[in-house]
Amino acid sequence: MSPLSLQSISKTYQHLRALDDVSLQFNEGRITAVIGPSGCGKSTLLKLCNGLVNPDAGEVRAFGQPLEYNRLTPVRRRMGFAVQGTGLFPHLTARDNICLLAGLEGWPAGNIEQRLDELLALSQIQREQLDRYPHQLSGGQQQRVGLCRAMMLRPEILLLDEPFGAIDPITRLDIQEQFLVLHRAEPTTAVLVTHDMREALRLADHIVIMDSGRVVCSVDKVELLAGPDAVDPDTLLQSLLVGQGQ
Ligand code: ADP
Ligand code: MG
Repeated sequence: MSPLSLQSISKTYQHLRALDDVSLQFNEGRITAVIGPSGCGKSTLLKLCNGLVNPDAGEVRAFGQPLEYNRLTPVRRRMGFAVQGTGLFPHLTARDNICLLAGLEGWPAGNIEQRLDELLALSQIQREQLDRYPHQLSGGQQQRVGLCRAMMLRPEILLLDEPFGAIDPITRLDIQEQFLVLHRAEPTTAVLVTHDMREALRLADHIVIMDSGRVVCSVDKVELLAGPDAVDPDTLLQSLLVGQGQ
Protein backbone atom coordinates (compact mmCIF):
# COMPACT_ATOMS: atom_id res chain seq x y z
CA MET A 1 0.00 0.00 0.00
CA SER A 2 1.19 3.50 -0.78
CA PRO A 3 2.02 5.57 2.33
CA LEU A 4 0.84 8.71 0.56
CA SER A 5 -1.83 9.22 -2.07
CA LEU A 6 -4.03 11.90 -3.54
CA GLN A 7 -7.48 11.05 -4.85
CA SER A 8 -9.30 13.39 -7.24
CA ILE A 9 -7.86 16.51 -5.63
CA SER A 10 -8.93 19.95 -6.79
CA LYS A 11 -7.83 23.25 -5.30
CA THR A 12 -8.89 26.75 -6.35
CA TYR A 13 -7.39 29.99 -5.02
CA GLN A 14 -9.96 32.75 -5.46
CA HIS A 15 -10.79 32.11 -9.12
CA LEU A 16 -7.61 30.34 -10.08
CA ARG A 17 -7.70 26.57 -10.33
CA ALA A 18 -4.29 25.52 -9.03
CA LEU A 19 -5.01 21.76 -9.07
CA ASP A 20 -7.62 20.05 -11.19
CA ASP A 21 -8.65 16.47 -10.39
CA VAL A 22 -5.20 15.19 -9.43
CA SER A 23 -4.83 11.55 -8.40
CA LEU A 24 -1.44 10.10 -7.52
CA GLN A 25 0.04 7.32 -5.42
CA PHE A 26 3.59 7.68 -4.21
CA ASN A 27 5.65 4.51 -4.05
CA GLU A 28 6.96 3.43 -0.68
CA GLY A 29 10.67 3.99 -0.19
CA ARG A 30 11.08 5.54 -3.62
CA ILE A 31 11.82 9.01 -4.92
CA THR A 32 9.11 10.54 -7.08
CA ALA A 33 9.94 13.74 -8.94
CA VAL A 34 7.09 16.12 -9.66
CA ILE A 35 8.10 18.33 -12.51
CA GLY A 36 6.42 21.06 -14.54
CA PRO A 37 6.62 24.74 -15.42
CA SER A 38 6.41 27.51 -12.84
CA GLY A 39 2.84 28.05 -11.61
CA CYS A 40 1.60 24.58 -12.63
CA GLY A 41 0.69 23.69 -9.03
CA LYS A 42 3.75 21.78 -7.75
CA SER A 43 4.10 23.62 -4.44
CA THR A 44 0.35 23.47 -3.89
CA LEU A 45 0.46 19.72 -4.40
CA LEU A 46 3.26 19.32 -1.88
CA LYS A 47 1.51 21.50 0.71
CA LEU A 48 -1.64 19.42 0.28
CA CYS A 49 0.32 16.32 1.23
CA ASN A 50 0.97 17.56 4.77
CA GLY A 51 -2.22 19.56 5.20
CA LEU A 52 -0.73 23.04 4.81
CA VAL A 53 -3.32 23.50 2.07
CA ASN A 54 -6.85 22.07 2.25
CA PRO A 55 -8.35 20.62 -0.92
CA ASP A 56 -11.73 21.87 -2.20
CA ALA A 57 -12.49 18.37 -3.38
CA GLY A 58 -10.86 14.97 -3.11
CA GLU A 59 -8.90 13.23 -0.41
CA VAL A 60 -5.30 13.04 0.78
CA ARG A 61 -4.42 9.74 2.46
CA ALA A 62 -1.29 9.33 4.54
CA PHE A 63 -0.29 6.09 6.22
CA GLY A 64 -3.56 4.47 5.24
CA GLN A 65 -5.85 7.17 6.68
CA PRO A 66 -7.43 10.32 5.27
CA LEU A 67 -5.74 13.46 6.65
CA GLU A 68 -7.59 14.79 9.68
CA TYR A 69 -7.29 18.55 9.36
CA ASN A 70 -8.00 19.22 13.02
CA ARG A 71 -5.34 16.70 14.05
CA LEU A 72 -2.36 17.10 11.76
CA THR A 73 0.50 16.98 14.26
CA PRO A 74 0.83 13.19 14.57
CA VAL A 75 0.97 12.79 10.79
CA ARG A 76 3.32 15.73 10.28
CA ARG A 77 5.75 14.17 12.76
CA ARG A 78 6.12 11.36 10.26
CA MET A 79 6.67 13.71 7.30
CA GLY A 80 9.74 15.85 6.73
CA PHE A 81 9.12 19.01 4.75
CA ALA A 82 11.70 21.27 3.12
CA VAL A 83 9.98 24.36 1.76
CA GLN A 84 10.88 26.19 -1.43
CA GLY A 85 13.93 28.38 -0.73
CA THR A 86 15.74 27.01 2.28
CA GLY A 87 13.11 28.22 4.78
CA LEU A 88 15.74 28.24 7.54
CA PHE A 89 15.02 30.39 10.57
CA PRO A 90 17.48 33.30 10.17
CA HIS A 91 17.86 33.94 13.90
CA LEU A 92 18.77 30.31 14.68
CA THR A 93 22.14 28.66 14.09
CA ALA A 94 22.43 25.71 11.73
CA ARG A 95 22.47 23.38 14.74
CA ASP A 96 19.31 24.91 16.23
CA ASN A 97 17.56 24.84 12.86
CA ILE A 98 18.30 21.12 12.50
CA CYS A 99 17.48 20.20 16.10
CA LEU A 100 14.50 22.47 16.76
CA LEU A 101 11.77 19.92 16.09
CA ALA A 102 13.45 17.15 18.06
CA GLY A 103 13.71 19.55 21.01
CA LEU A 104 10.02 20.43 20.70
CA GLU A 105 9.23 16.73 20.60
CA GLY A 106 11.01 16.35 23.91
CA TRP A 107 13.85 14.14 22.68
CA PRO A 108 16.58 13.68 25.32
CA ALA A 109 19.72 15.69 24.55
CA GLY A 110 21.78 12.53 24.00
CA ASN A 111 19.38 11.28 21.32
CA ILE A 112 19.43 14.65 19.57
CA GLU A 113 23.25 14.65 19.53
CA GLN A 114 23.34 11.12 18.19
CA ARG A 115 20.88 11.91 15.39
CA LEU A 116 22.78 15.10 14.59
CA ASP A 117 26.00 13.07 14.29
CA GLU A 118 24.34 10.63 11.89
CA LEU A 119 23.02 13.44 9.71
CA LEU A 120 26.34 15.29 9.69
CA ALA A 121 28.16 12.16 8.61
CA LEU A 122 25.69 11.54 5.81
CA SER A 123 25.38 15.11 4.58
CA GLN A 124 29.01 16.20 4.81
CA ILE A 125 28.20 19.27 6.87
CA GLN A 126 31.31 20.28 8.78
CA ARG A 127 30.93 20.63 12.54
CA GLU A 128 32.22 24.19 12.53
CA GLN A 129 29.32 25.19 10.30
CA LEU A 130 26.82 24.23 12.99
CA ASP A 131 27.31 27.39 15.03
CA ARG A 132 26.80 29.67 12.05
CA TYR A 133 23.59 31.47 11.19
CA PRO A 134 22.05 30.84 7.77
CA HIS A 135 23.40 34.09 6.28
CA GLN A 136 26.92 32.93 7.22
CA LEU A 137 26.54 29.77 5.10
CA SER A 138 26.74 29.37 1.33
CA GLY A 139 23.59 28.49 -0.60
CA GLY A 140 24.66 24.86 -0.87
CA GLN A 141 25.44 24.63 2.84
CA GLN A 142 22.05 26.15 3.67
CA GLN A 143 20.32 23.58 1.49
CA ARG A 144 22.15 20.74 3.23
CA VAL A 145 21.05 22.14 6.58
CA GLY A 146 17.45 22.37 5.29
CA LEU A 147 17.59 18.75 4.21
CA CYS A 148 18.98 17.63 7.59
CA ARG A 149 16.26 19.59 9.37
CA ALA A 150 13.61 17.82 7.29
CA MET A 151 15.18 14.44 8.10
CA MET A 152 15.84 14.99 11.80
CA LEU A 153 12.83 13.09 13.14
CA ARG A 154 13.49 10.11 10.81
CA PRO A 155 10.34 10.78 8.79
CA GLU A 156 8.85 8.03 6.67
CA ILE A 157 7.78 10.60 4.06
CA LEU A 158 9.99 13.41 2.81
CA LEU A 159 8.45 16.36 0.94
CA LEU A 160 11.00 18.52 -0.84
CA ASP A 161 10.14 21.68 -2.75
CA GLU A 162 12.91 22.51 -5.22
CA PRO A 163 15.56 21.70 -2.61
CA PHE A 164 18.47 22.08 -5.00
CA GLY A 165 17.31 25.16 -6.88
CA ALA A 166 19.22 28.43 -6.82
CA ILE A 167 22.69 26.95 -6.44
CA ASP A 168 25.48 26.75 -8.96
CA PRO A 169 25.53 23.66 -11.20
CA ILE A 170 28.66 22.08 -9.70
CA THR A 171 27.46 22.42 -6.12
CA ARG A 172 24.06 21.17 -7.23
CA LEU A 173 25.55 17.98 -8.66
CA ASP A 174 27.40 17.47 -5.41
CA ILE A 175 24.30 17.94 -3.24
CA GLN A 176 22.17 15.78 -5.51
CA GLU A 177 24.71 13.00 -5.09
CA GLN A 178 24.64 13.54 -1.33
CA PHE A 179 20.88 13.33 -1.34
CA LEU A 180 21.06 9.92 -3.03
CA VAL A 181 23.50 8.77 -0.35
CA LEU A 182 21.10 9.99 2.34
CA HIS A 183 18.19 8.29 0.64
CA ARG A 184 20.03 5.00 0.29
CA ALA A 185 20.86 5.12 4.00
CA GLU A 186 17.28 6.06 4.95
CA PRO A 187 14.89 5.15 2.12
CA THR A 188 11.94 7.43 2.76
CA THR A 189 8.98 7.85 0.45
CA ALA A 190 10.23 11.07 -1.09
CA VAL A 191 8.35 13.59 -3.22
CA LEU A 192 10.80 15.90 -4.92
CA VAL A 193 9.41 18.97 -6.66
CA THR A 194 11.65 20.35 -9.35
CA HIS A 195 11.49 22.21 -12.65
CA ASP A 196 14.66 20.54 -13.90
CA MET A 197 14.24 17.38 -15.96
CA ARG A 198 17.93 16.49 -15.60
CA GLU A 199 17.51 16.55 -11.83
CA ALA A 200 14.34 14.46 -12.05
CA LEU A 201 16.06 11.84 -14.22
CA ARG A 202 19.15 11.81 -12.04
CA LEU A 203 17.37 11.39 -8.71
CA ALA A 204 13.93 9.91 -9.14
CA ASP A 205 12.56 6.41 -9.64
CA HIS A 206 9.22 7.72 -10.79
CA ILE A 207 8.39 10.90 -12.67
CA VAL A 208 5.16 12.89 -12.61
CA ILE A 209 4.76 15.63 -15.20
CA MET A 210 2.32 18.44 -14.40
CA ASP A 211 0.94 21.29 -16.44
CA SER A 212 -1.75 23.85 -15.54
CA GLY A 213 -2.83 22.01 -12.39
CA ARG A 214 -3.17 18.61 -14.02
CA VAL A 215 -1.06 15.48 -14.13
CA VAL A 216 0.01 15.06 -17.74
CA CYS A 217 1.98 11.87 -17.23
CA SER A 218 3.07 9.59 -14.38
CA VAL A 219 5.68 7.05 -15.34
CA ASP A 220 8.59 5.00 -13.97
CA LYS A 221 11.94 6.33 -15.05
CA VAL A 222 13.02 2.99 -16.49
CA GLU A 223 10.00 3.05 -18.80
CA LEU A 224 10.72 6.61 -19.79
CA LEU A 225 14.28 5.77 -20.69
CA ALA A 226 13.46 2.48 -22.39
CA GLY A 227 12.94 4.13 -25.77
CA PRO A 228 15.39 3.32 -28.54
CA ASP A 229 16.83 6.81 -28.89
CA ALA A 230 18.90 8.74 -26.43
CA VAL A 231 16.83 11.88 -25.88
CA ASP A 232 18.00 15.12 -24.40
CA PRO A 233 16.14 15.66 -21.05
CA ASP A 234 14.68 19.03 -22.06
CA THR A 235 13.38 17.65 -25.35
CA LEU A 236 11.91 14.71 -23.46
CA LEU A 237 10.12 17.04 -21.02
CA GLN A 238 8.71 19.13 -23.85
CA SER A 239 7.42 16.08 -25.69
CA LEU A 240 5.78 14.78 -22.48
CA LEU A 241 4.18 18.17 -21.79
CA VAL A 242 2.53 18.17 -25.20
CA GLY A 243 1.50 14.55 -24.72
CA GLN A 244 3.67 12.90 -27.33
CA GLY A 245 5.84 10.97 -24.93
CA GLN A 246 3.42 8.26 -23.84
P1 ADP B 1 4.46 25.99 -8.71
O1 ADP B 1 5.02 25.55 -7.41
O2 ADP B 1 4.33 24.89 -9.71
O3 ADP B 1 5.20 27.16 -9.29
P2 ADP B 1 2.17 26.86 -7.14
O4 ADP B 1 1.54 25.65 -6.57
O5 ADP B 1 3.01 27.69 -6.23
O6 ADP B 1 2.95 26.48 -8.47
O7 ADP B 1 1.02 27.80 -7.69
C1 ADP B 1 0.02 27.36 -8.60
C2 ADP B 1 -0.86 28.54 -8.95
O8 ADP B 1 -1.60 28.95 -7.80
C3 ADP B 1 -0.07 29.77 -9.41
O9 ADP B 1 -0.80 30.43 -10.42
C4 ADP B 1 0.00 30.61 -8.15
O10 ADP B 1 0.11 31.97 -8.49
C5 ADP B 1 -1.31 30.29 -7.47
N1 ADP B 1 -1.21 30.37 -6.01
C6 ADP B 1 -0.39 29.64 -5.22
N2 ADP B 1 -0.58 29.92 -3.92
C7 ADP B 1 -1.56 30.84 -3.87
C8 ADP B 1 -2.23 31.53 -2.81
N3 ADP B 1 -1.92 31.31 -1.53
N4 ADP B 1 -3.20 32.43 -3.16
C9 ADP B 1 -3.53 32.65 -4.43
N5 ADP B 1 -2.95 32.02 -5.48
C10 ADP B 1 -1.97 31.13 -5.22
MG1 MG C 1 6.69 26.20 -6.35
